[in-house]
Amino acid sequence: MYLALYRRWRPKNFEDLVGQEAVSKILKASIEQNRIGHAYLFSGPRGTGKTSTAKILAKALNCVNGPTAYPCGECENCKKLDSGASMDVMEIDAASNRGIDEIRSLRDTVKFAPVDGKFKVYIIDEVHMLTIEAFNALLKTIEEPPPQVVFILATTEIHKVPATIKSRCQRYDFRRISEQTIFDRLKFVASKSEIDADDDALMIISHAADGGLRDALSILDQCAAINSHVTKRDVQELLGLAGVAGIFALVDSIVSKNPAKMLETIDKILSEGRDPTQLIADLIQYLRDLMVYKETGRAAFYETPEESLELQKDLLKTELLPEMLKILNETSRELRWSVQPRITMEVMMFSLIQLVEHGIPKIYTESDQLVQKSKPQSKIPEEKSKSNNRVVPFPNAAPSKSVDTNSLDGKKIWQDVLDSLQRDGKRMTFACMKNAEFNRFDGDSIVIKFANPIYKQIAESTFLSDIETLLKKVGCPLRFVCET
Ligand SMILES: [Zn+2]
Repeated sequence: MYLALYRRWRPKNFEDLVGQEAVSKILKASIEQNRIGHAYLFSGPRGTGKTSTAKILAKALNCVNGPTAYPCGECENCKKLDSGASMDVMEIDAASNRGIDEIRSLRDTVKFAPVDGKFKVYIIDEVHMLTIEAFNALLKTIEEPPPQVVFILATTEIHKVPATIKSRCQRYDFRRISEQTIFDRLKFVASKSEIDADDDALMIISHAADGGLRDALSILDQCAAINSHVTKRDVQELLGLAGVAGIFALVDSIVSKNPAKMLETIDKILSEGRDPTQLIADLIQYLRDLMVYKETGRAAFYETPEESLELQKDLLKTELLPEMLKILNETSRELRWSVQPRITMEVMMFSLIQLVEHGIPKIYTESDQLVQKSKPQSKIPEEKSKSNNRVVPFPNAAPSKSVDTNSLDGKKIWQDVLDSLQRDGKRMTFACMKNAEFNRFDGDSIVIKFANPIYKQIAESTFLSDIETLLKKVGCPLRFVCET
């Protein structure tokens, strides 16, 4: 069975912990001095080693030589802990069902003595997700724990952990791991795992992982699964597919001053698992790249694909970008304290639209007016009806009347769509869509094929719905399906 890199390279003792030297030093010292707490609270961003450290601590306590800062890794207890088979270590994921049943049964089981080792260790991951009732139950247990019980609580959102819990724990803050440290670790893991990865590819991964080693390793894992030789291009495509299309659509909605579309895009991005803080960070990076690209023709960071910057480079006036970045940086500071981060972020996004609207009045060049803006919706049919040969997909019929799609020539429709985008000066849409080729006509759908997956993602996130709406308005309700 294939074991994910981050599992295979999970640290097995305090010395192996990457980038958390301060934490492991203090923990080791307290074990050596036999100052073992009843409750530990590990906080910090995801993928920074909290759960790994919790498991090492459990091993340090239950090794036959324990408590020891240097668990042997050889004894039965250590082996059981490493393979997850120990009866003395209970892992509870508070995120999965908010914990109420587990905490209740925990209260019943804490009083029993450990089976193999000296301590029963309860690791509660994402502890901030517990319900109030579960917290109260946990608090009662932590207040009067049986002597052989140790709680290790881990959280990515320390501000959501009640003060009553915090005050009863030894606290350890796990920091984001530096890019250099992640890079070194990736290089080590790659060489040990016989993955051939270019340095610049590993640099992009180190940057994109945002301080989390687990994320870095799983990106490397995914790239290595696609291609045995991992290149910069592979990483860009992988990350670009996940992130850039959404940000591209978001920038488009802001610049086209379309709040409804903006909220819809935000919703989509968040539903894909990013949080508001990440979204702002991604947007900052994207706009920064856009600014640098406008000046130099190159992206500042590696992971923004140049295709998307090329498409959007003329959208925003250069003077506007520093202003937008200022607002975004303020927001990312505010988000640290915000109780309602999503609302804070959305309010700020509206102020970006305001800035675009009032700051510099003319944003799109004249020819880049979006379809739903002031230009007449009927532009395409008008143009079409002028030339007889092109009438097929855009009949002179009234917009409400629909066309018998069976009689249509898909390839011709696609060509007509491209022609009219170009003729109407929808430069950005055209620049993206011209990368696709007509593939087949599938009943009511036109299947188009992109050679470059980044253009496909951008088309799907930003342009296709406009083109479909436009066709529908001229009585030609076709859908587009993109393939690569
Ligand atoms: Zn041992």
